[in-house]
Amino acid sequence: MRPQNFSPIFKYSVIGFAILMSTIIAIHMVVPEMIDKRMNKVTLLPPYTVSPEATKLYDSLDFVSDLHSDVLLWKRDINHQHQHGHQDIPRMIEANVALQGFTIVNKVPRGLNFDSNPSDSDQLTLPFAIQGRPFSSWYNLTERVLTQINELEQYAIDSGGRLKVIKTKRDLSTYLIDRTENNNMTAAFIGIEGAQALHGDIKTLNDLSSAGVTMIGLTHFFDNEVGGSAHGIVKGGITEFGRLLISEMEKRNILVDLSHASPQLINDVLSIANKPLIVSHTGVKGTCDNIRNLSDDQLKGIASTGGVIGIAMFEAATCGTDAKTIASAIKYTSDLVGAQHVGLGSDFDGAVTTAFDVTGLPKIIDELLKLGISEQDIRLIMGDNIKRVLLKNLPD
Ligand SMILES: [Zn+2]
Repeated sequence: MRPQNFSPIFKYSVIGFAILMSTIIAIHMVVPEMIDKRMNKVTLLPPYTVSPEATKLYDSLDFVSDLHSDVLLWKRDINHQHQHGHQDIPRMIEANVALQGFTIVNKVPRGLNFDSNPSDSDQLTLPFAIQGRPFSSWYNLTERVLTQINELEQYAIDSGGRLKVIKTKRDLSTYLIDRTENNNMTAAFIGIEGAQALHGDIKTLNDLSSAGVTMIGLTHFFDNEVGGSAHGIVKGGITEFGRLLISEMEKRNILVDLSHASPQLINDVLSIANKPLIVSHTGVKGTCDNIRNLSDDQLKGIASTGGVIGIAMFEAATCGTDAKTIASAIKYTSDLVGAQHVGLGSDFDGAVTTAFDVTGLPKIIDELLKLGISEQDIRLIMGDNIKRVLLKNLPD
């Protein structure tokens, strides 16, 4: 057979194309994990040392729950155990976590800071492209949410029954029964971080609610169509669209999450809310006074709706990341408003550094016991409060 004589231009084009394709594949496979590792650090790797008393109590908890994790943002395959980041399904099951709120990040402004962020920039398009996510999600915030929900559904299918997605009261009741027979499983409910994902169009709420969104954080790091962010420019109150959104959310049993809301927005929502309000991840000014954290009056207001305040586990929330600091924020809140309104709101995998990954949650019990918190209150704080509110307030 006679060798074919290809022109040099053709040969170099083929080589160039092959190099380009290998580079694109390498970027998809390597860069997202590099970013994930860099953004979600743990100060101390497992295993963690915990007293026998705390271990015994932790192992006896039948419902450990946390309100806030951004793990879906990173496109980490959560069915596999990783050496980086704060959680995945194997580590959640090892940690006896019954239910985790997966709160979907959908827009992050450039130059992100805690004091003042404009709403006109967005730095998620490039990561979504590099992660190989659908083109429809590169620019459209609703699609970014729906894409992450699709990925969660696929993880649940691939998990072989070890991950359930909870969307209704009935889902939760069934899951509770199933888990009494087999606790080799965990579950997620779906929140979103910032109602900018609706693009100011109330009809979009139907798409989100049909996809299983059951909690909406009104604002994230910038003011949006609903109202002001604690980190926005104007930091204003609720808009007309915001009022409409809350009334439509209440009709559908979608929970309102006030994390990141401006003080004025919190006050406005407190004055119109008819259902329990959630703060999925926060600190409290009583132990860590900054623009992000809640005042005593705000905490009392949220508790008076029957809601739950999730205490976060990163530096800006608690002014320290160790279990002792987290426990003191929990105790402060519990003393102020009652243990029945306090929960965990780690912000695991939320581009934060934590002192431990999800398997370190028993360390918090150690510190709560040292602070004299009763076993009964610890059970409420570690998850029973979240279970109570969701059983009553998820969609039918
Ligand atoms: Zn957040």
